[in-house]
Amino acid sequence: MAEATPLLLPDTGEPGFGVYVHWPFCAAKCPYCDFNSHVRHQPVDQPRFVSAFLREMQEMRRLSGPKTVTSIFLGGGTPSLMAPETVDAILNGIARHWHVPEGIEVTMEANPSSVEATRFRGYRAAGVNRVSLGVQALNDPDLRFLGRLHDVADALKAIRLARDIFPRMSFDLIYARPGQTVEAWERELREAISYAVDHLSLYQLTIEEGTAFYGLHKAGKLIVPDGEQSAFLYGATQEITASVGLPAYEVSNHARPGCESRHNLTYWRYGDYAGIGPGAHGRLTRGRDKIATATERVPEAWLAAVEERGHGMQDQEILGFEEQADELLLMGLRLREGVDLARWQQLSGRDPDPAKEQFLLEHGFIERLGNSRLRCTPSGMLVLDAVVADLAC
Ligand code: SF4
Repeated sequence: MAEATPLLLPDTGEPGFGVYVHWPFCAAKCPYCDFNSHVRHQPVDQPRFVSAFLREMQEMRRLSGPKTVTSIFLGGGTPSLMAPETVDAILNGIARHWHVPEGIEVTMEANPSSVEATRFRGYRAAGVNRVSLGVQALNDPDLRFLGRLHDVADALKAIRLARDIFPRMSFDLIYARPGQTVEAWERELREAISYAVDHLSLYQLTIEEGTAFYGLHKAGKLIVPDGEQSAFLYGATQEITASVGLPAYEVSNHARPGCESRHNLTYWRYGDYAGIGPGAHGRLTRGRDKIATATERVPEAWLAAVEERGHGMQDQEILGFEEQADELLLMGLRLREGVDLARWQQLSGRDPDPAKEQFLLEHGFIERLGNSRLRCTPSGMLVLDAVVADLAC
């Protein structure tokens, strides 16, 4: 593992304010993916999308009021299909609408199949300082199974380029693949660690409704590891990453301390974020209210809506305190630092149910960090949804 690059700005521990921009296109649809990603066989009119992003930003700025941005994230889809000029125009637009201090984290997702040095240099020149690569596997048969367009050689080339060009870099792997043994995963993970800089995202393969894998799984043609095997794989992941100084700071995310993704911390610390582009979600505080925004998912429909009325928002819901408390818990318990209990109590107007908390404590699913924070233990992380459900009601 290479030496960690110092962060550009220190983490204040505050939730922060992030701006998320969604690029909804991919070169092909991966069979496990339920993200808002679309394949188009005609070239995408990028200048037209840029104009729409800028118009929607204006509306989000109206809703958020003046803010200092703590992170920007260009996600997708495959944002590395964007031209550097498109990225440059988006980042400039954000800086015109909100205060963007020098040195904040600016992340872009990229796929190894759509990476080339000139574009990477262009993204860096536009202001991107962190790249997150969708590597997903380090063996060719599994990459083919996952429907990826790159092979291991492409992935390694993309990792090398990213390390050369960007101050910070992360990559994703998917494990708990059909037939994957703990030993095989451990070997692959150790190899991945040898290429990592300061951050890795390690997701278990999940079968999501509406995906190609869902149909195969339902028909009995795709068997994924059962709960016990998944727990072994998860345990091995935690042990190996912690032993090399990349402990989990969230269920699936690992970083050298201080190198966590600021943008994702904003989600998990239940901060505010403006979501721009097709299918983007946002959370914006106005006075004592929190507004949940969601935009039209289909790119062309979103584009038409923005061109007609200045934004593609379909929903704008005001979340009540109880809903905010549930979301705070749901997000915060994913984090190793846990959830701020005083904030939860303020929103929910109550303490956690003592009997339920006691049960979860006694069974080793949660633990208190002093009086002010509550977090899931590693065994609690395995049954996170049940823990959240227990504490929330
Ligand atoms: S490249 Fe990413 S966003 Fe696109 S289909 Fe595959 S997993 Fe989904």
